[in-house]
Amino acid sequence: MAERLPIVVAGGGPGGMSVAVALALQDIPIIVVEREPDFPIDLRAGSFHPPTVEMFDRLGVGDQMRANGIRVPVWQIRERRGGVIAEFRLEMLAGDTPYPFRLHIEQHKLSRFLGQRIKDFPHADLRFSTEFVSYEQYDDRVRGEIEGPEGRETIEASYLIGADGGRSTVRKQMGVAFEGFTWPERYLVASTTYDLATHGFAMNAYIADPVEWAAVFKVPHDGPPGLWRVVFPIQPEVSDEQALDLPFVRDKLGGFLAELADVDIPYHSIYRVHQRVAETFRDGRVLLMGDAAHANNPLGGMGLNSAVHDAMNLAGKLDSIWHRKGDADVLLERYVRQRRGVTIEFVQAMSIRNKRLLEEQDPEVRRQRLEELRQTAADSDAAYKHLLNTSMIASVRRAEAIE
Ligand SMILES: Cc1cc2nc3c(=O)[nH]c(=O)nc-3n(C[C@H](O)[C@H](O)[C@H](O)COP(=O)(O)OP(=O)(O)OC[C@H]3O[C@@H](n4cnc5c(N)ncnc54)[C@H](O)[C@@H]3O)c2cc1C
Repeated sequence: MAERLPIVVAGGGPGGMSVAVALALQDIPIIVVEREPDFPIDLRAGSFHPPTVEMFDRLGVGDQMRANGIRVPVWQIRERRGGVIAEFRLEMLAGDTPYPFRLHIEQHKLSRFLGQRIKDFPHADLRFSTEFVSYEQYDDRVRGEIEGPEGRETIEASYLIGADGGRSTVRKQMGVAFEGFTWPERYLVASTTYDLATHGFAMNAYIADPVEWAAVFKVPHDGPPGLWRVVFPIQPEVSDEQALDLPFVRDKLGGFLAELADVDIPYHSIYRVHQRVAETFRDGRVLLMGDAAHANNPLGGMGLNSAVHDAMNLAGKLDSIWHRKGDADVLLERYVRQRRGVTIEFVQAMSIRNKRLLEEQDPEVRRQRLEELRQTAADSDAAYKHLLNTSMIASVRRAEAIE
């Protein structure tokens, strides 16, 4: 029977692995195909919000993530020249979540823990070095072409999930527009062991400046003391090659803080950043999630968190369909309304607002916006509401409320 065919997940990134484990936990057979020979060391996401940390428990990796991550109880908005503008303390959320902190840990560690977890399930098949190539859809199944070490193969699936990242093959095959825009500047991320806390930086800080804003995240790396990542915008006239040149990176760090001018830089990388949402997340039995479905700038740390939220939502719907507890069309359309809805209403809106705040050129507008934030942080009701939004608790609740 078609429904007994496995669910195929294209892409074994942290989003794809989350949905795969969530489905395997419901006794649903799954196949994950990942193009790379192993989980790639990916230095992008590192900041996880409370609802996502709760979801890690449901996936059976919560203890490992917390044991290997850094708990960040407070984050800051700063001015490059004026110091701290506002501090937000997550302990205000203690009544809303058992985990009132941001958890900082590299995204490839999440993939790896989920990769270990998936070995617990005999009905789960994770195939590395295997590319998802194309699909055809029928009333009762999806037939996919994959290419692995043994060559081309056809696999049949009851559903196909495109979790294959921003350049998603599945999304392109669906013929769905990836609506939105790409920012002209790219983001340079440079890491150092130099302890920015000695200069008053919280382990997560956003630094406004009309010429060159920055963002700071402390991540565990190989264990204490960890690494501080500093993110800078790179203007279009600077090539990737120039931006990745070590003297250029040192110059950026030294301009940010004189003490960083000659520190070791164990890692540095550059990223193009988009604000895009797929026109729909569904075509029949084919579903999109994670970066394949939406992309946003990383200020506020919401891209991968959203991918995990998509994964849990979608796995819940597919679980009901698989175990014949609901109508497939109704449930999958609800997935699209819920997750696409909050992507636009919350994640796109907030991440664009965060970037505009940091880069504001007009001194009067900048002063006003920073003053508003200062007042928000000083007023406990307003600070609490701000924390519900920025911690993504509000967006998860809102998605659940969408019929
Ligand atoms: C600088 C930076 C910092 C960031 N920080 C944060 C943060 O702190 N918090 C946060 O929530 N988000 C953050 N993000 C965003 C986050 O990195 C992404 O949202 C996240 O990686 C999305 O996960 P994913 O699994 O959907 O996609 P990906 O991580 O892109 O994984 C897709 C996987 O699919 C595989 N694949 C692709 N095509 C195929 C194919 N045809 N067949 C088989 N496999 C395929 C790829 O190899 C990859 O492993 C940041 C992004 C940047 C650029």
